[in-house]
Amino acid sequence: MKKIIAVTNQKGGVGKTTTAINLAASLVATKRKVLLVDLDPQGNATMGSGIDKNDIEHHLYHVLIEEMPVARVLKQAPEGLYDVLPSNSDVTAAEVELLSMPQRERRLTNALTPIQDQYDVIILDCPPSLNMLTVNALTAADGVLIPVQCEYFALEGIAALLETIEQIKAEINPRLTVEGVLRTMYDARTSLTNDVSNELKNHFGATLYRTVIPRNIRVAEAPSYGLPVMHYDQSSRGALSYLALAGEMIRRQEDAPEPQA
Ligand code: ADP
Ligand code: MG
Repeated sequence: MKKIIAVTNQKGGVGKTTTAINLAASLVATKRKVLLVDLDPQGNATMGSGIDKNDIEHHLYHVLIEEMPVARVLKQAPEGLYDVLPSNSDVTAAEVELLSMPQRERRLTNALTPIQDQYDVIILDCPPSLNMLTVNALTAADGVLIPVQCEYFALEGIAALLETIEQIKAEINPRLTVEGVLRTMYDARTSLTNDVSNELKNHFGATLYRTVIPRNIRVAEAPSYGLPVMHYDQSSRGALSYLALAGEMIRRQEDAPEPQA
């Protein structure tokens, strides 16, 4: 399976963080060892993993700017489910400081190199913009998972994201590919959802995951308990659909031809 997956869409509120947390938990359920990296100064992936973002001494800023080893910064999600490289609002400064640093696109890649053999999968939860933190994520990643909410203007902005991905692939990270596009907060009862969904099918073909994540209240409630939805309500539609997503990702990668050495 691809090791480092960036969950990216520069639009806010499309389900990036929800997907990063629940995909992490679902991959753990398949016996994989997972690291979740919170690249958003909002710290939602940190809080949603049961870690108080205001009660951490060290976080992503120290890793990216001060080159503190990742191992010193790591926290654990409840019951040791998965490891978390946390963030909080102090990481905002890193966005600006990175601009004038040497190897500014590769700081995250360099930080992850010494520890990546300890994990089967590393999930990067990106901020809602194409800033230097997102560029660091796309430079470190092998694959990009793009969550899309099926509403008007869903495709707007994806063009800019795909352009950025192509640019980073050409200039810095030739391994990078779009792993898949995921429909989130899906409501099959509305014709708008169906229209946008068809548009996504035409546009992305096999890159679009067959699994869709339904709009489900349990998914929205779980972060306030600091839990992935499968540990909050394991029989909810949200929990089952994120498990299905992990299964589809694993199957896709098993079916994909091995890259030539
Ligand atoms: P992003 O990280 O892209 O900004 P989030 O994952 O934080 O988006 O999701 C935005 C909001 O939508 C959050 O309040 C989240 O709880 C809610 N949400 C996400 N996915 C679902 C879903 N499948 N069903 C219901 N609410 C959802
Ligand atoms: Mg988010």
